[in-house]
Amino acid sequence: MRAIRRFTVRTVLPEPLAPLDTLAQNLRWSWHTPTRELFASLDPELWERVHGDPVALLGSIDPQRLATLAEDRALVARIGELDADLQRYLTEPRWYQNDFADADKPDAIAYFSAEYGITAALPQYSGGLGILAGDHLKSASDLGVPIVGVGLLYGAGYFKQSLTRDGWQHETYPVLDPDNLPLSVLREADGSAARVRLPLPGGRTLSAQVWLAQVGRVPLLLLDSNIVENDDAARRVTDRLYGGSPDHRLQQELLLGMGGVRALRLYARLTGSPQPSVYHCNEGHAGFLAVERIRELIESEDVSFETALEAVKAGTVFTTHTPVPAGISRYSTDLISEYFGGGAELPGIPLGKVLALGAEDYEGGNPAVFNMAILGLRSAKRANGVAQLHGKVSRGMFHQLWSDFDVTEVPITSVTNGVHAPTWVDPAFAELAYRHLDADQVESGQGWRLSPEEGGVSDVELWDVRRKLRGNLVKEARHRVRKSWLDRGASPAELGWTDDVLDPDVLTIGFARRVPTYKRLTLMLSDPERLTRLLTDPERPIQILVAGKSHPDDEHGVGLIQQLVQFADQAGVRERIVFLPNYDIAMAQTLMPGCDVWLNNPLRPLEASGTSGMKCALNGALNLSILDGWWDEWYDGRNGWAIPTADGVEDPEQRDRLEAAALYEILEDTVVPRFYDRDSEGVPRHWMEMVRHTLATLGPKVQATRMVREYVERLYTPTAGSARQLDGGAGLEGARSLADWKARVREAWPAVRVDHVEADGVGEVVQLGDRIAVTAYVSLGALKPDDVEVQVVAGRPDEEDNLADLRLLPLEVSETFEGGRYAFTGERALGETGPFGYTVRVVPRNDAMVGFTELGLAATPVQ
Ligand SMILES: *Cc1c(COP(=O)(O)O)cnc(C)c1O
Repeated sequence: MRAIRRFTVRTVLPEPLAPLDTLAQNLRWSWHTPTRELFASLDPELWERVHGDPVALLGSIDPQRLATLAEDRALVARIGELDADLQRYLTEPRWYQNDFADADKPDAIAYFSAEYGITAALPQYSGGLGILAGDHLKSASDLGVPIVGVGLLYGAGYFKQSLTRDGWQHETYPVLDPDNLPLSVLREADGSAARVRLPLPGGRTLSAQVWLAQVGRVPLLLLDSNIVENDDAARRVTDRLYGGSPDHRLQQELLLGMGGVRALRLYARLTGSPQPSVYHCNEGHAGFLAVERIRELIESEDVSFETALEAVKAGTVFTTHTPVPAGISRYSTDLISEYFGGGAELPGIPLGKVLALGAEDYEGGNPAVFNMAILGLRSAKRANGVAQLHGKVSRGMFHQLWSDFDVTEVPITSVTNGVHAPTWVDPAFAELAYRHLDADQVESGQGWRLSPEEGGVSDVELWDVRRKLRGNLVKEARHRVRKSWLDRGASPAELGWTDDVLDPDVLTIGFARRVPTYKRLTLMLSDPERLTRLLTDPERPIQILVAGKSHPDDEHGVGLIQQLVQFADQAGVRERIVFLPNYDIAMAQTLMPGCDVWLNNPLRPLEASGTSGMKCALNGALNLSILDGWWDEWYDGRNGWAIPTADGVEDPEQRDRLEAAALYEILEDTVVPRFYDRDSEGVPRHWMEMVRHTLATLGPKVQATRMVREYVERLYTPTAGSARQLDGGAGLEGARSLADWKARVREAWPAVRVDHVEADGVGEVVQLGDRIAVTAYVSLGALKPDDVEVQVVAGRPDEEDNLADLRLLPLEVSETFEGGRYAFTGERALGETGPFGYTVRVVPRNDAMVGFTELGLAATPVQ
């Protein structure tokens, strides 16, 4: 019955309970345990049935019961306290107001993402990217950072996963009812729902309403095209996450980027809140936000495309999340042309200029493709990857855009991901921590080093809570396994064995993630006999819980799930290895704290960061992982285990076999013996040392508050400074002058040359402390010495004459000749021994650029 119309009958809360509405509507409950406990206490059985969703609870609670509760003085007082606590949380000055002093700090930052994982009750995410965006907003809220989130509201979110009898993934798309979610629609003063409208080719219009989700202090605007005034095709634009054809996805991305900017304007107008000065484009999907902002500036300031682009670029931060070219959203230029050309041009923006922003116009690029990551990089002055290794991989991946420079100079930095502790630390674990330690000791991790005599947590208590978390997981997993088998068509009579599946005292290993090939879901099956021996060891067995959704179009991924399920179905092992369908936030919140070991075996370096292992670390679980993503950066030899990689082995099957063998070996020789090595109190002391070390050292680093502070300090605030510098009041004076200057430099550049270099004091061997003086004779054509910097680039040469550990020495102009020729000179004492090499180059210089790489131009000596 597809045409079914839904509506929700809401209970009117009795007056003394009215603040429950406020508490349910602000998503802070999703990470505030006392508020969740309050809702659970209203009707514990119903709370279970609605999967811990306060809005659904209030939507279906019995009015009779509410009347009784309204008489309960203690309850009403508790509601009042929590309401007051929420108001305090929403208004009091926090880190950003109290502790972060910087004249440039922005009043508002817009954060764009195609998905958000905030709570299981709002399923608008497919995996790590969305969870990260949710954690970003929550931590920004905790820190008082003035972010506004922008996204889409997908009618069916991402799919729900179940299994067929033979282990094949089955997808369903339950339609959400926004009226039954913690969302409110943005309204005009007259009460009508506000609209965002985008022109589509052929005179059509795509309209959207805007839902507001309140994530603590952070508003999240979600555009929704499913409204009656749209034609059928337009209504379906926001039907599901990453669904459909390229055309469908492009329309989603146009609505997200361009419509998202319009939603921000709407929100500022309706609420009187400040306009953002910083725009953070989280992955390429929202890249069209730049085109919309350029359009706005051309219209309001009557400036050229280039001037508007400079102004927009100054205020934009781009984060890339994928280390694989195949992971980037790309469209055919023909498709882009349909939306931005042939009569659909935006005023002042010829099609060619849009295409140029996303063009792969470099060696090895595809001229028929429009690349959303390139669009992101070209429209942002600052860009980053999401872990140090990923920053490095990204600099390599996008080196073509800065091919005049060394790969280490590519201006893409990194901010390592983090996770929102209040969301991911199990309440029982948090309770233990805060029973003994104060907030500073937990935050800094130092509390975990204290002995019981010093007021710390004892090993026995810590082990007890770890056992409790494992026990919760086993209970939950039994329930899920049974339900999965019923869904697969088994009869209850066949399922007696599921009551005893898994064991609360056995070493528990978790593996849950999306199922793209590089994550190697089935690596653990490489040697089935060896795995079976580990699972069924009579003295010291292990058990494994596996979960993950495959993109429905990825047949290979779906096949991997089937392989795993078929292995786990076997009578000999099915009590020790299970596949839990429908991996989501709710499952993750029990799974990660309950595991002893979190396994991650991607093909290095294809995991950009990964965050699930961070959630485990915060609960005292140990990581066992390939040195990839965040683990490559923070593994220290004592906080878990590194699976050695067979980098350089070309044959993928051989590489898998080698890495799987290394994995089995670590499990057999180290992990298993250490877990079962108990003292007289039954505590694995050596294991607990690793747990404490993990909590003390990783605890502070893996948190999203650390990540958001880094974004604020290293990216948002300098970006706000650049935006202000280039805004310069009427007519965007700063941006115009930078745009004009860049045009002049680009035009003059072909004539810029290093003609000749002389060095004094450089022989084959130079003594430490000797001074060397360099003079470079350069031709600048139409440019002046002020337009450029002439630099000595020094470093350690390798066999191919590439320099490593680059050091720069800027030279000063020392002589002027006719015809635009100059001498530049400088000298320096040599402070290190060893082989040394250098060259000289000319780069553009302008204080309004973030650095001399911004234009991508450098001139080196003619060979
Ligand atoms: C944390 C999380 C992820 C991301 O984990 P990775 O380590 O990046 O694979 C994906 N899905 C859910 C439900 C999560 O909680």
